[in-house]
Amino acid sequence: CGVFGVYAPGEDVARLTGYGLQALQHRGQESAGIAVGDGEHLSCYKNVGLVTQVFDDAVMDALVGNLAVGHVRYSTSGAAASREAAQPHLSSIDEVEIALVHNGTLLNTEALRTSLEQEGAVFASGTDTEAATYIIAEATRRTGSVREGIRHAMGVLEGAYAMILATPEALYAFRDPHGIRPLCIGRLPQGGWVVSSETCGLDIAGAAYVRDVEPAEVVRLGREGLDAESGPAAPHRASCIFEYVYFARPDSVIDGQSVYQARRVMGAILSQEAPVDADLVLGVPDSGTPAAVGYAEASGIPYAFGIVKNHYVGRTFIQPTQAMRERGITLKLNPLPSVIAGKRLVVIDDSIVRGTTSRQLVAMLYEAGAAEVHLRIVSPEVRWPCFYGIDTATRDQLLAAGCTTEEMRQWIGCDSLAFISPEGLHRAVGGARHQGWCEACFTGSYPIS
Ligand code: 5GP
Ligand code: SF4
Ligand code: MG
Repeated sequence: CGVFGVYAPGEDVARLTGYGLQALQHRGQESAGIAVGDGEHLSCYKNVGLVTQVFDDAVMDALVGNLAVGHVRYSTSGAAASREAAQPHLSSIDEVEIALVHNGTLLNTEALRTSLEQEGAVFASGTDTEAATYIIAEATRRTGSVREGIRHAMGVLEGAYAMILATPEALYAFRDPHGIRPLCIGRLPQGGWVVSSETCGLDIAGAAYVRDVEPAEVVRLGREGLDAESGPAAPHRASCIFEYVYFARPDSVIDGQSVYQARRVMGAILSQEAPVDADLVLGVPDSGTPAAVGYAEASGIPYAFGIVKNHYVGRTFIQPTQAMRERGITLKLNPLPSVIAGKRLVVIDDSIVRGTTSRQLVAMLYEAGAAEVHLRIVSPEVRWPCFYGIDTATRDQLLAAGCTTEEMRQWIGCDSLAFISPEGLHRAVGGARHQGWCEACFTGSYPIS
């Protein structure tokens, strides 16, 4: 998912949030929503669809306030696309009004929901975020302080969360103690504040990057400015390394490391780890393109634009059935025979999850006349599911979980296949301000059980 928030009295906070969400659209395409606070109350509009499908001028005009939070959803918990599961989630208990947006997945939702329902809570959706909203609102009412309410929730919620909470007067941004999903803060030239999953959201809002929210930190943004309070971080930080491989936009910078530069270096390192004699380097657009540029630069093999992508087709893995995913790939990717016919190709992609993309694409490349296809992947083998907010399928669907590299190569049908080493990937993200990574989908060693 993608989360975005803005505190900027006097500005059109709803439209600014709409632009921020469009910049984060790659993080979730199922539903979109915005809540605004006007100092007294919160109001919200959300629905299934892309940001531009959910919001029109009339809806935006009706969302007036000093601050806003927004969300684009990609379901990893609870029901698939529905209006009830869309965010922000609003809660009002007595005088306490809050709106919450969440990127990540909570692991103890079932236990929390059961005990809350016994206390009389009623939930509209099956999502973890709705339970978290209720917990924070109830603890805020009890303690009389939003910050205390959030602290209480951080004590009971387990899992991955980068959250932004809006009250009618202020925004609160906070991140789980492992710092799994990213979250950053920017400053508007007029003096307001922006919070975004990625820096590409700050760019579109015209905000200057200030810093990332630290693991376990709670940052309040309001009339008094920025007020941060750090909390008990986990002994070992575990930020998602897959953000650099695939999930984040290449023009974002996470914890000081440019995503584009990391991908480019991944390609360069892979060209040293798994060299091949070939005529052209191709990237699988869009997620494989920066790494292909790096592979070409480092190997001296020319980069070629040999696969065209239809940009009106979304991220294919989001499709619910395998048949739809396969159709999605032929709709989305089309090779250029005039470029590749008779050529020996090195084809760079970011990851192999189910293998659907690679198998279909390799067949399409041979059909278009490729002489050889050497597949190079800039992440290690994805062998384990992600439980922290990226839906990398269940274990039985992961191609690398049950196969050797040679078996994968045969099934995909390419001439050779190689993956970057875990050490190579670490070197590629070496510019980040910390080196505490979650890489459980590659190693099976989960930072939170
Ligand atoms: P595959 O077809 O092997 O399942 O997926 C290959 C490509 O789709 C990868 O290059 C990656 O860009 C993307 N992808 C596919 N499935 C998933 C998934 O479940 N989660 C994520 N994050 N990316 C995926
Ligand atoms: Fe990221 Fe993989 Fe960890 Fe999930 S398991 S948070 S995708 S590194
Ligand atoms: Mg891809």
